[in-house]
Amino acid sequence: MKAAVLVAPRQFELRDVPVPECGTGDVLVKVERCGICGTDLHIYHGNYSLDRLPLIPGHEFSGTIAEMGSSVSGLHIGQAVTADINLGCRSCFYCRKNEILNCTKMVQIGIHVDGGMAEYVRVPAHAVVPLPAAMSLQEGAMVEPLSCIVRAFRKSQLRLAESVLVIGAGPIGQMHLQLALRAGAAPVIVVEPNVQRAQLAKELGADVVISDASQVDAAVRAATDGRGVDVAIESVGSPELYEKAFTLIRPGGRVIAFGLAKPGQTFRISALDFVLREQGLQGSVAGMGDDMREAATLLGYKRIDVAPFLTTIYRIDDVEHAFARLAEDKSVLKIQLQVA
Ligand SMILES: [Zn+2]
Ligand SMILES: [Zn+2]
Repeated sequence: MKAAVLVAPRQFELRDVPVPECGTGDVLVKVERCGICGTDLHIYHGNYSLDRLPLIPGHEFSGTIAEMGSSVSGLHIGQAVTADINLGCRSCFYCRKNEILNCTKMVQIGIHVDGGMAEYVRVPAHAVVPLPAAMSLQEGAMVEPLSCIVRAFRKSQLRLAESVLVIGAGPIGQMHLQLALRAGAAPVIVVEPNVQRAQLAKELGADVVISDASQVDAAVRAATDGRGVDVAIESVGSPELYEKAFTLIRPGGRVIAFGLAKPGQTFRISALDFVLREQGLQGSVAGMGDDMREAATLLGYKRIDVAPFLTTIYRIDDVEHAFARLAEDKSVLKIQLQVA
């Protein structure tokens, strides 16, 4: 089968490799679409999973079931699916709590083992997430990224009419924005320097969009009766912006930490203010388990508009160009590879 194999940092080879063997408890998914995300860029640049190369990346894939192991039931050949890429031992303390990333045996498809940038990918049947009938395979490749937002949303404990500040309107920030709106947050404020991304945030319903960094404090105060927001979501991964977020929440407000900083980076907040102002801080990372199924439901009922994420498509043969483009061109929100 054709596969995009990352053989070294910034070096893909389009290879003809054997189709993965389908074990008794596995399914083989014939991949249709596979999105590229920030984590893939980290892998591409050698910041992450370097010890796993050569690797077929790709953890935002959708496709149809081509083969099933003998012990698999409840699924069928040709079924449209995506996958929960987080594979734990399924029995430890963390796996039982759907905190699979903390499982010591955890591996992620497309990050630690071969993923969806190939004609076929092997998925354990328990990790298969069927797509609702109304959903296209293009949309299906957005279930995994949306599941990460679903998880962060739950951890934020956002309530009706709470104000939300989304810092950074990349693909993740645009989904945070939409989910906050659907959940009844008001006002929802977005900070994003890139003009196209800021414009899209406006079109998707943000109440206030700020592009000029010097205006952020004033605009947030103006929109919240001078208090600051109930919830700030850092969706960039910058220590400076984490520190900034704490200045933009109200006393009693909370910061949701979502953007991935570089290893070793730290941020500083006032330990005294943190207590006296009863501030909250909650990290959240990948979607898994129920987060995936809930994301599929939300997408199936069109609660989130993913059309803006489906506009830039590259053939898998052009994988190198696709990665280079996504790394450089901030006007592009998301790139999907057409595999089939
Ligand atoms: Zn991702
Ligand atoms: Zn486990």
